[in-house]
Amino acid sequence: METERLRGDPVADEVRADVRERVGALREAGVVPTLGTVLMSDDPADRRFLELKHRACEAVGIETVDRRFDPDAPADRLYRAVEGLSADPDVHAVFVQAPLPEGVETMAVRERVAPAADVDCFHPENLDRLVAGEPRFLPATAAAVCRLLDASDVETEGADATVVGRSPVIGRPIATLLSADRSPGNATVTVCHSETTDLAEQTRRADLVVTAAGVPGLVDGSMLSRGATVVDVSANQVVADGDPTVVGDVDAASADGVAAARTPVPGGVGPVTVACLLANVALAAERHRDRDTAP
Ligand code: NAP
Repeated sequence: METERLRGDPVADEVRADVRERVGALREAGVVPTLGTVLMSDDPADRRFLELKHRACEAVGIETVDRRFDPDAPADRLYRAVEGLSADPDVHAVFVQAPLPEGVETMAVRERVAPAADVDCFHPENLDRLVAGEPRFLPATAAAVCRLLDASDVETEGADATVVGRSPVIGRPIATLLSADRSPGNATVTVCHSETTDLAEQTRRADLVVTAAGVPGLVDGSMLSRGATVVDVSANQVVADGDPTVVGDVDAASADGVAAARTPVPGGVGPVTVACLLANVALAAERHRDRDTAP
């Protein structure tokens, strides 16, 4: 079986084109869409991920405000930065780059992001709304998975889907959207994690496998049913033949020939996620404009 590649770039291009138009309209109305970002890490990979987002913003006309802290800095400085960006009327969206250092209470950060600016769906209120089926923002990665499936005409309605990973920002929102009464959605979803006793049994019975575990090679071809669709969300930094590179959770070589379609890593979910984040920034700025012009 020939395995189709579900490439992210064409889908990301479409999302970005729409964002560019919306940003143009906002600027004409006197609103300069602005994203505030916070980073508390000196890991070059985390810095790269954030810089990628800044460049993506610049390319569509979104301004950025950058706050960076040494990982050893007092957690209070991070909390105050998130509060400050959230309260700034010229900043419409706030994004906190993961991971956060150990001394930082993640919940304390989440609660400080203004829900109206929370473009990564990080605040507990926004997660509640997502689960309740009334999302304020769709978390960018989960939205990207859905956009890719939709653009590739992958049928999710009635499908058995297995999501590997249950983190509140990645795995759970993906499972929530895939099982929601929406399109793409209406799948019967199994969520797996590190305590799942037989992962292969859960992935093998799925029509759609979404991996977000952060473990290279966790899922190989023998763990897939013939004709399954595989979406690999993970971006694991590894060294191959002495060179740093990025791989997913799926062993691509053995998945090819078994899966009907799979996303490559890199070049699959990643670019669409960044584009979906931009779309959320545009949405936050539009809501800001509409609040200001409401009678
Ligand atoms: P995380 O917080 O570390 O969560 C990983 C999840 O995978 C946890 O639920 C964990 O289970 C589960 N897991 C770990 N080992 C497992 C195993 N052997 N079998 C089954 N489940 C296992 O990571 P995250 O923040 O959700 O990120 C997940 C991946 O997505 C990372 O590779 C990250 O780089 C990537 N990512 C990609 C994008 C994108 O746009 N493509 C965006 C953000 C992140 P427990 O809950 O039991 O620990």
